[in-house]
Amino acid sequence: MQLTSSDPTPCIVVLGSLNMDLLVRVPHAPAAGETLQGHSIDHVPGGKGGNQAVGCARQGAHVRMLGCVGDDAHGRTLRETLGRDGIDTAGVQTDAQEPTGVALVMVDDSAQNRIVVIAGANAGVKVDDAALAHALHGAAFLLVQFETPMWQVARALDVAAQVGCPVLLNPSPVADVPAAFWSQVDTLVVNEVEAEALGGLPVGGPAEAAAAARALRARGPARVVVTLGARGVVAADAQGCRHHPARRVEAVDTTAAGDTFLGAFAVALAGAQPIDEAVQLGIRAAALCVARPGAQPSIPSRDEVLRSPLPPDWIAL
Ligand code: ADP
Repeated sequence: MQLTSSDPTPCIVVLGSLNMDLLVRVPHAPAAGETLQGHSIDHVPGGKGGNQAVGCARQGAHVRMLGCVGDDAHGRTLRETLGRDGIDTAGVQTDAQEPTGVALVMVDDSAQNRIVVIAGANAGVKVDDAALAHALHGAAFLLVQFETPMWQVARALDVAAQVGCPVLLNPSPVADVPAAFWSQVDTLVVNEVEAEALGGLPVGGPAEAAAAARALRARGPARVVVTLGARGVVAADAQGCRHHPARRVEAVDTTAAGDTFLGAFAVALAGAQPIDEAVQLGIRAAALCVARPGAQPSIPSRDEVLRSPLPPDWIAL
């Protein structure tokens, strides 16, 4: 499958979080009361909303970002870096009272990470119905996660329903999905932890992921996709369930793997690719991402993805 230059450029609207990740490398996690010399600190743009917006933009989509940053240096840097990826930031609000969201990511020498997220300005994002309806004009999808307040997500889903824009939901970090959402979501993308929590069934492999995907699909979404890390992806739609094995790669850092998958998957779907081809594109993008360190810096471009090897064939379940 190839996306060609003749494909019309799809537009995707992303509502979500914008964080500055403070990535601190340490020999080991400090114990209570211990003072430790760390190896290094890096400031890396992150947040699920920002990562997925970048994931879509690097696959060639027009992306309109809705979110909220503080009136501070991190906020200005996040706007600038989104802009460098060609993302329209007119819908990124500034909260003068709260700092830009921050994730403190501590990675020790055995690659274990410990993360503290301060939502900051993300908690103050306000969906303006008229502005969102305008932004959704001509968009293939509204893409949302759960790192912004649930009542704002609910509001955005209502506006999308009013203007007839399909919703792609990634309910992460996992939380109860309000009953009204199920009929408003066209495509649901979850990892195995989210599939288990929402489906109420254990998800240990592709067969169980398929059972969870069928159960979640029965609640309303036309398509359900379960990502399974190195074991690949299970996709469910009206035609049934398929297991897509991942590409075998040496994983260096799996941060943003799911966001990278989502970006490439969403852009291919938005370009009217069949779901299995969209999943394959997502797997190729995510394989490149996990082979590199960092979040947004590790998200590949469309050319890199199209040059990368195809994953193994999918298997009907
Ligand atoms: P999340 O980051 O949301 O938990 P996953 O861990 O399921 O998501 O990863 C998303 C996708 O990234 C997987 O479906 C797979 O295609 C790819 N991926 C993740 N980890 C690996 C890995 N170790 N090797 C190859 N691909 C991987």
